[in-house]
Amino acid sequence: MNQKGCPEKEVLALLENAMKKDTSYEKVLSAMCTQPHPIAVKAHMQFIASNMGDFGLFQGTKELEEKVIKMMGCMLGDDNACGYITTGGTESNIQALRTARNMDNKKHPNMIVPDSAHFSFDKIADLLGIEIRKAQLDAEFKVDEDSVAEQIDKNTIALVGIAGSTEFGQIDPIDRLAKLAISNDLFLHVDAAFGGFVIPFLDKKYDFDFSVKGVTSITADPHKMGMSTIPAGGLLFREEECLLPLEIDTPYLTIRKQHSLAGTRSGASVAGAYAVMKHLGMDGYKKIVKRCMEMTDRLVEGTRELGIEPLIEPVMNIVVLDVPDLDEVRKKLRAKGWVTSITRNPKAMRLLLMPHLGDEIIKLFISDLGDCIRSK
Ligand SMILES: *Cc1c(COP(=O)(O)O)cnc(C)c1O
Repeated sequence: MNQKGCPEKEVLALLENAMKKDTSYEKVLSAMCTQPHPIAVKAHMQFIASNMGDFGLFQGTKELEEKVIKMMGCMLGDDNACGYITTGGTESNIQALRTARNMDNKKHPNMIVPDSAHFSFDKIADLLGIEIRKAQLDAEFKVDEDSVAEQIDKNTIALVGIAGSTEFGQIDPIDRLAKLAISNDLFLHVDAAFGGFVIPFLDKKYDFDFSVKGVTSITADPHKMGMSTIPAGGLLFREEECLLPLEIDTPYLTIRKQHSLAGTRSGASVAGAYAVMKHLGMDGYKKIVKRCMEMTDRLVEGTRELGIEPLIEPVMNIVVLDVPDLDEVRKKLRAKGWVTSITRNPKAMRLLLMPHLGDEIIKLFISDLGDCIRSK
């Protein structure tokens, strides 16, 4: 650190320079996060000093958190769900599986996740000492329930289903996983980190949330399609008793117990999530999702005209395209400012149609993609 303090003006100039190196969302088609809603930003700034690690001092923020959980519970099929605002999908998934492990005292526990599971489950395996078993996917990249069933044994503590897979935006057959979970007396966690704020607003209805008997917990992130500020994840349980294995005594705080993985944690993101959810309401999110799905349709139409097919008909605002000479095409697109991403298996181009994009930019992308393919 510099010995003498640096004047504010100079510090701000340094920040300005750093920000220039950051990529603005304008041509980013790879991100699951987006420009937060302005009201979330306002609320975030207003509550910038609030610490939910010691919520006894921040009763107002604590009430906001309870309201956010209530709103999310309503959105996900159970008004009485309980939980808390995490730092994101990773923390939510860790905590859900930690609950499952601690409720089910097994010496060598294992969990069965779809092969499409987010890499946070590999972290979980390492952190929590739970063996990870990956179940095969079917031709549409949904988990194959027979492959799940085959791997269940006496040491299995949990099944995981994904509602909105990171790579394909696909929704696993949660109702069928729930039947397996019930008949084997297992915890069923649904990872809807991305899909939680998308699936409830799609025209087509899917059984993926607490309305399905047998679903124990759900991850859904306000900081992805919830339009809230980072870091805001959501972890919801159907039963209050699921919070007990996470409880820890906190003798020197103004509260006696804590359930979060993080100690000090942002009340600002709680306020941000509350503000944007209250402001948009179900109708507001429906509009946003509708717009993203229209952009998705437009993109697929345009790429089909170029002779490029999606690997599956998009279920949500994620498109996976079978692009020839993928690496080369992506490099050329990058030179034109576009940020795209890939799926692992099979390797293909993965694009997210997030709220920060618009019709004009999609048109431009299709045209640039066409140029990059033709200029091989
Ligand atoms: C993004 C994502 C996560 C991880 O969420 P973070 O907020 O990045 O920790 C977990 N699961 C799925 C399905 C995701 O898409």
